[in-house]
Formats: sequence, C-alpha cells, structure tokens
Amino acid sequence: MNNCEIVKDLLPMYIDGLCSETSNKLVEQHLSTCTQCKQIYEQMLNEFEVEQIGLNTIAIQQKQPFEKLNHIFKSYRGFSKMLEWLTVLAVVIMIILIGKGFIDTQGLAANIKHQENIEQEQLNIMNAAFENFATDGASGLEKVSTDYQNRIKYIAVFNIADVEPLAKDYDKPKAIYPLPYERAKVIYESGQLITDNITPSDYDIGTMVMEKDGYIVQFEYARHYLHEVERAFQTKHYSPTTLQLWIPALIAMIVSLCSFFLYRKIKDTNRKVQKLIS
Ligand SMILES: [Zn+2]
Repeated sequence: MNNCEIVKDLLPMYIDGLCSETSNKLVEQHLSTCTQCKQIYEQMLNEFEVEQIGLNTIAIQQKQPFEKLNHIFKSYRGFSKMLEWLTVLAVVIMIILIGKGFIDTQGLAANIKHQENIEQEQLNIMNAAFENFATDGASGLEKVSTDYQNRIKYIAVFNIADVEPLAKDYDKPKAIYPLPYERAKVIYESGQLITDNITPSDYDIGTMVMEKDGYIVQFEYARHYLHEVERAFQTKHYSPTTLQLWIPALIAMIVSLCSFFLYRKIKDTNRKVQKLIS
C-alpha cells in the first residue's frame, strides 16, 4: 500500500479531527508534496463544511419554535402575576365587604327591633286610651295623656260618626294626616284638657289613629320624639333585606374565586410550559 492509499483512508478522520498526532503529521506531510491527494482533501473538506452549514440551519430551525414559546411563556407569566394581584385585591375587598355585611346586618336587626318597639308602644297607647275611655269616659284620657307625655303631644277621641267618611279600617294603629280636632269629643295635652282650637301637625307620619267600638283615638307625637317615629317608618318601608345587604360581599366572593381559579390554572400551564422548554 503506497502513502496515497493510506492518506486517503485517513482523510475523513483527519477532517473530523479524530486522528492521532502521528497520523496528523503523516497526512500533512503527504498533502504538502502530493497534489492529487491535496485535491481530494480539499474536495472532502468542502463537502464537510457544506454538511456542517446544513446541520446548523436545522439546529436554528429547531430552536425557533422554542423561542416563540419562550416569548409566549414570558407574557403568560406577566398575566399570571397580574391575576395574582387581582386575586389579592379581590380578597381584600371581599373581607372589607364581609365586615360591612356583618355591621349592616346588625344595624338592620337593631332597626327592626326599634321599629317593633315603636309599634308595640303605639298599640300600648291606643289600648290604654280605649280601656280608660271605656271605664272613665272622656276624663279617662287624662291618665294616658299624663303617662305618655314624653312621647305624645295631643291625644283625642272622636265619635266615628263625626269623622266619617275620613276614618275607615283603622283596626290597628295607623299613621294618617290628622283628623280635624274640632270634631273631637275630647282632647288632652300633657294631662290637661284642651278646649282651644288646635292647628294639627302637618307631618303626616307623626299622627296615629285607631278605631274600636265606634270610637277613634288619635294621638300626635311630641316634636322631640318624631325622629324615632321617622326611623321606624323608614325601617318599615325602605329597609333593604338581609340578602340585599350581602350582595356586594357575595359578588366580591365570586370575583375572588374566579380570579383565584384562573390564576391557579395559568400557573399550572406555566409550569407545564416551563418543563417543556427547559
Ligand atoms: Zn498522495
């Protein structure tokens, strides 16, 4: 075997850099003297380089989708961070609204209790008036007027026939615009019999009437007590329900839960994507 044959066999390994020092020297020495082998060597080297470029291109092409994925992953992570803050914010708002729900519920319970007390008191005044009137006649009102003078200003009794058709269906205490006092059988104020003309209050929830056994009792609240009556009236007609009080907290709770689950879902996806690209 001449040197050309040996060098041709060695050339692929030489190009790949896999030859020993000794073989390298042998190949280089021969290439510097033999033009035929040198030509073969250059051709092989050329083919090798083209092959390398091809491999690099494939590597770049394979890398590109991962770079895109990495980009998506980064913006996803930003979104996940935002959701995390949104969840925290929603939970804080929810806690505040739950606190408010408790306070408002207690407030409503207090208002309802107050309203019941006012209504019970109205009934007590009416019952006392009817009872005393039945036993002692007109002067029976004097005691009621005295007993409740820190609550009421005037208390009067009417014959139902004298105020028809103004009065009807007052089988329990009812707020009305006052019946005209000049038609009353008797009027008391703080235990005193009133015989002068009275200008009735124009405040239509400050006067209560009730009818029993052909008579009507009417009393007008004392001015200083009107705010209590007003409060009871507001509770009765304009109070929200307990459910309505809790709606803001419920909405905050739903938003918190949705935000939290979305956050968990995205965090989970992030983990999977990270595993895929690392
Ligand atoms: Zn040669």
